[in-house]
Amino acid sequence: MNPGSLPKPPRLRLRVTATAESIVRSGHPWLFADSVKEQNRAGEPGELAVIYDRKDRFLAAGLFDPHSPIRVRILHAGKPQTINREWWRARLDQALARRRGLFDDQTTGWRCINGESDGWPGLVLDRYEDTLALKLYTAAWLPRLDELIDLLQGENLTRSELLPPAPRLVLRLSRNLQRLAQTQFHKSDGQIIHGPPITAPVIFLETGLRFEADVLRGQKTGFFLDQRENRRRVEALSHGRRILNAFSFSGGFSLYAARGGARSVTDLDISPYALQSSTRNFSLNQSHPAIAVCRHETAQADAFEWLEQNHAKKFGLIILDPPSLAKRESEKAGALRAYARLATLAIRSVGPGGILVTASCSAHVTADEFFQIVRQSAAQSRRQFSELQTTGHPPDHPAAFKEGEYLKAIT
Ligand code: SAH
Repeated sequence: MNPGSLPKPPRLRLRVTATAESIVRSGHPWLFADSVKEQNRAGEPGELAVIYDRKDRFLAAGLFDPHSPIRVRILHAGKPQTINREWWRARLDQALARRRGLFDDQTTGWRCINGESDGWPGLVLDRYEDTLALKLYTAAWLPRLDELIDLLQGENLTRSELLPPAPRLVLRLSRNLQRLAQTQFHKSDGQIIHGPPITAPVIFLETGLRFEADVLRGQKTGFFLDQRENRRRVEALSHGRRILNAFSFSGGFSLYAARGGARSVTDLDISPYALQSSTRNFSLNQSHPAIAVCRHETAQADAFEWLEQNHAKKFGLIILDPPSLAKRESEKAGALRAYARLATLAIRSVGPGGILVTASCSAHVTADEFFQIVRQSAAQSRRQFSELQTTGHPPDHPAAFKEGEYLKAIT
């Protein structure tokens, strides 16, 4: 990046514990604050920090964040490299190259950069048609926004058919960054940092279906792009069935189910805004004959309570895609109980020959733990069942390290 924006020497130098040394050497992208043994001076957010091993040899370089327990997000380990504009451009090209060939012109919304797993620690970039939503999870990127804007604009992108030629760029900030971003960098969540204002939700295509994304305020960056492949599977299973989409958000699964020939789709969500968005998404897709004839209903309620109270209603396919139920390790036991409860309730509401598709996005619950819970609930129901499939991350959401793995689903 522009050397002018980097701090003056001396270079920020760190020495770390032996354990951290081997973790970093093995390619893990995080260095925690309590692993730092020595630091030559206080550092600013976004400075390049160089980590040396106990023999004073270069170990890794990364982005420093004095406000986060993840003190350094590693950019590269092994041999020293010159991190300049060319380096960043090559890294962007790498992320885009991974996605080449994944989507045709019927899909204009996908994840372009998935943080650490794409070599861009703490940074997510989602495309929705001509808009790019840039979501930051570390303050380290805040002083580097101009360089990022430059990188994502115009001539830099001519080699890439994957990004729009002159994208609008919306800044999204994880909650823990918002205050610092405002006070130190005068940046706020939902700010448009490049391009024209947004007056209506951005409309994009996913597998030929039109969806709106509230890129300014919506959860994540406005849409759950990570469920695309699971939605495609639901489409293939929906013909002639009555569908319950619990934790529906804006109806992502519902539209696919309707296009797949579902007789009816009921969206169940606690948020009236999510349900309104789903209703608008159904309106946006009336040109698909199967969607036009599918009965669409909404239920605004707590999904646990609704399933408890409506067990007499039977469905041919139920989708359960709750929000993360364990945001931290201490919540894990409660989350496992909640997943079991949900699966049990849903299995009771699945009619004969019906299907349950259930997903978990809690990073603290492993795929094996989650699948075990669902299998146990199915066994305890004393109903006959067979397991069709388990799935993980879609290809535009790679997970290259353990903490980056969160999504799993079982049918
Ligand atoms: N399946 C969705 C994403 C689900 S996100 C998709 O494919 O796009 C989780 C959703 O659960 C959010 O819309 C949130 O409003 C809803 N939610 C959270 N807690 C809930 C509860 N107790 N009962 C019902 N919905 C809830």
